[in-house]
Amino acid sequence: MQYGSTMTSDPSTRDRRPDPSALRAALRVRPAAKVSLKHFDAGATHGWEKPVARDETERQLERLADLQDRLWAEAKRAVLVVLQGIDAAGKDGTIKKVMTAFNPQGSPVTSFKVPSVEELAHDYLWRVHKAVPRKGEVGIFNRSHYEDVLVVRVHELVPRRVWSGRYDQINDFERHLAANGTTVLKFFLAIDKDEQRARFQARYDDPTKRWKFAMGDLEERARWDAYQAAFQDALSRTSTDVAPWYLIPANRKWFRDLAVATILGETISDLDPRYPPVATDVPPDLVID
Ligand code: AMP
Ligand code: MG
Repeated sequence: MQYGSTMTSDPSTRDRRPDPSALRAALRVRPAAKVSLKHFDAGATHGWEKPVARDETERQLERLADLQDRLWAEAKRAVLVVLQGIDAAGKDGTIKKVMTAFNPQGSPVTSFKVPSVEELAHDYLWRVHKAVPRKGEVGIFNRSHYEDVLVVRVHELVPRRVWSGRYDQINDFERHLAANGTTVLKFFLAIDKDEQRARFQARYDDPTKRWKFAMGDLEERARWDAYQAAFQDALSRTSTDVAPWYLIPANRKWFRDLAVATILGETISDLDPRYPPVATDVPPDLVID
């Protein structure tokens, strides 16, 4: 189905629908902007209300499905989506929702965990570069090379002089990917400290989710301020024209899903992926018997 054909699907919500395409500019971190998370409203909804946003998200996912199919068929460009956020910010939930639009064959997800012995024996970008999407794919990173200026900085796993050199290295790496046919976009899911508390509690209280809860999560939570400082520096120093950060207010899952699906759709739409031409030996009026 073509995006737009259901534009007026629900007359009751139609009139109260803000322009979804405005979210991209509104949430984009401008290069060299000084990001302050203390003053960021993680509960913002940019004029959207839940039922309208849910309806719009479904339409954005339909559009994404069409775009991904074209990108895959064209097989000339790749898209890399980086997801970062503190524990319980909703990285897994965002992937679960947005991925429903995609054919799994063309959309690999890579989750970056504590590095293995072999990974640690290499430079920190080694495992990351190996996992970048192939041409035609929309690859999703659940955590990424940014952990090497986040958890690594907060826990002082390497000296300051080592991690502080990585912002420029990361910008160079992403510029390299972009120059070689990979469109990079990065989402930082921002929740506030009370929202994290509520989500941890809900995880703990739900017998089907308690397995996700670890006592170590509380130790990390105790380092909230150090993480916010590390996030701010990463957002301020690595949002570039070729690999922008989008700072997503993520206290409300329905707004987060809408924002990510819409910005991803706008970005792939700009690439204008096209089905390849039919082979020259295929006649226009073939009837197969
Ligand atoms: P989760 O995403 O909840 O499965 O947890 C993955 C864990 O791996 C998180 O605690 C991350 O901080 C950690 N992690 C990911 N990358 C690195 C890295 N480069 N160095 C140290 N820890 C990392
Ligand atoms: Mg975790």
